[in-house]
Amino acid sequence: MFASFRLKGWMLAAAAALALGCAVGALGRAALASAPASAAPREGIPLPAVMYHGLLRDPALQGTYVIDPTLLESDMAYLQSRGYTPVHIADLIGYTEGGELPEKPILLTFDDGCYNNYVYAYPFAQKYGMKIVISPIGVWADSYSASGEENAAYSTLTWSRMREMQESGLVEFQNHTYDLHGETDGRLGSSRREGESDEEYAAVLSADLGKMQDRMREELGRPADCFVYPFGAIGEGEEALVRSLGFRCTLTCDSRISYITRDAASLFGIGRTLRPPDCTSEEFFSFLPQ
Ligand SMILES: [Zn+2]
Repeated sequence: MFASFRLKGWMLAAAAALALGCAVGALGRAALASAPASAAPREGIPLPAVMYHGLLRDPALQGTYVIDPTLLESDMAYLQSRGYTPVHIADLIGYTEGGELPEKPILLTFDDGCYNNYVYAYPFAQKYGMKIVISPIGVWADSYSASGEENAAYSTLTWSRMREMQESGLVEFQNHTYDLHGETDGRLGSSRREGESDEEYAAVLSADLGKMQDRMREELGRPADCFVYPFGAIGEGEEALVRSLGFRCTLTCDSRISYITRDAASLFGIGRTLRPPDCTSEEFFSFLPQ
């Protein structure tokens, strides 16, 4: 019962997220290509970012938000062959503070903190020496940490697994809300309810995101630097509120390449491209800068 509820919750969450496949990706590329030729060249370092969720071997469980783990390994091998170096949000912040980034940085992000990320993504990260960013949902992490249940098909990461991965230096964790990852009473994710006042909305965000920061501080030894918008749904005034809560970076679901400069503001609204289940690494990564 509990398990089926969780699975259902995950599936519902996935269904509400932006649906982008290779076909839509191609449309996106066409739109990019039709941008005015006279547009000034973008300043900064191009930062592609990939958005993954679940990884499972069973084809019956695969879909828009669950892909075969072999595709992730294929993606990593492809990126390695193209000279890309996956980075953490901490590396991006370091760059805005005068540090350096590798020549071709890329973000490999995993939303929702699925336990199968530990089963499949973590070993691949170790094999390829690649950094990944996982954004768990606090209430799910607390639930499965309490029950101790670990099932690749539906459970999420426990805090203990997160600590284990964090200690490797390869996995970084960011804030994907404590319990605002659904669509309830007119609120999608952390976006603003219709008619909600500035004060009410600020209080809701501060309480939920702040609770996740507290839980991350308690369990992982540090709060998140980055807020990852559930479903990419951004409420009116939300970006400013997120900044006021101390976050230094936000990740969206806008399928585009971002440009990172020494200006700390360049870390807000970073776009990400959803990795679909039905195309090769070469096809998927055709959006990378040539
Ligand atoms: Zn999510």
